[in-house]
Amino acid sequence: MKLYNTLSRSVEPFEPGGDSVKIYVCGITPYDTTHVGHAFTYASVDALVRYLELRGMSVQYVQNVTDIDDDILRRARAVGEDWKQLGNQWTTHYIRDMQALNIRPPDHFPRATDVIDDIIDQVRKLLKRGVAYQANGNVYYSVSSWPEFGKLSQIPRSEMLPIANERGNYPNDPHKRDPLDFVLWQAEMPGEPSWESPWGKGRPGWHIECSTLAQKYLGDRVDIHGGGADLCFPHHECEIAQVEPLRERRPFVRVWMHTAMVEYKGEKMSKSLGNLVMISDLLPKYTANAVRVYLASHHYRKPWSFDEGDLKKAARLAEKFEKAVSAPAGTGTPLESEAAWAAFTASMDNDLDTPGALKVMEGLAEAIEDASMARRNVVEAQSALKTFGSVFGLRLGSPGGDEPVPDGWNALLPRFA
Ligand SMILES: [Zn+2]
Repeated sequence: MKLYNTLSRSVEPFEPGGDSVKIYVCGITPYDTTHVGHAFTYASVDALVRYLELRGMSVQYVQNVTDIDDDILRRARAVGEDWKQLGNQWTTHYIRDMQALNIRPPDHFPRATDVIDDIIDQVRKLLKRGVAYQANGNVYYSVSSWPEFGKLSQIPRSEMLPIANERGNYPNDPHKRDPLDFVLWQAEMPGEPSWESPWGKGRPGWHIECSTLAQKYLGDRVDIHGGGADLCFPHHECEIAQVEPLRERRPFVRVWMHTAMVEYKGEKMSKSLGNLVMISDLLPKYTANAVRVYLASHHYRKPWSFDEGDLKKAARLAEKFEKAVSAPAGTGTPLESEAAWAAFTASMDNDLDTPGALKVMEGLAEAIEDASMARRNVVEAQSALKTFGSVFGLRLGSPGGDEPVPDGWNALLPRFA
């Protein structure tokens, strides 16, 4: 299988570095509902995970919940709700959306606040290594102390600051040595939650949460680290800077995978622009299969624009698949599926070409319909079509055949009650 690696800017052969494929994907900051952009990221990763499993690999998948963050605290203040309750409420919504879309649950779904001690330990190590400094109860990462800062995003130093400022950086913080330095630990602010630390009461910065969680749950090797393309800089750049100075020339992550942004009428779908298309708005009108086919009809690296006409087309294709798997089988010459298997795996092996894989499925569905009309035996071909569909979380034919997904998420729910 080949996958694009943001770090090398090239499509590379992918082999796991050990017995299982270790995947970390940045999860949600739970203060609002799941929109199509989120769903695209998690559905794309779902197709990757399920495909690797179909190819006989075992996968260890971690996705975090950023449950302590400026955005959550801001929203909690605005709506007058407790930050923890707000986070739990939106995490539960997210789980319901993931269940509805039949997206496989991660093997670990930790909250940042579950690992405060581990985060403090990481910050302590970075201070000892000399790439961080304390000021006024805060601990900052000193970007000038790590010459490789920028190697992932390849953004010139002069252009970094405005982008970082748009994504949570406070350039005017008087305690920073460089406006680009980022916070590892921030001192307690009035009315905000805080934890004891060697630097006084405070809370972790955003970037240190993910690099700590990835290492805690996956160990020394992360095969694939994913997230939306807007996380590449500064979030993932900062994650690398937090991990690699503490190791001898061993990379933190082998493959960096970034999913493209989803637009709406020519603009990025984002909370600040107020142009979000929510999954919960689509699901009463379209089946989960239709939404999954629609998401998979876009390659994960190519930005696209939400279009209801395209979603309707996807719904028709999903219906075609459903019809094909329930077409009556005759007793004539069996319809072979070997060529479809070869074409499906060739597409998926080619940097997760999900639109190509859907075309193969469409061809197979049409062949099944024709063969069924001619009273041929289509049982094996139908089973192949169901298996291909399962890579995209499609429930074709026997409903309820995919219980591990709802059950797995249900097991996570009580923690967010
Ligand atoms: Zn992250």
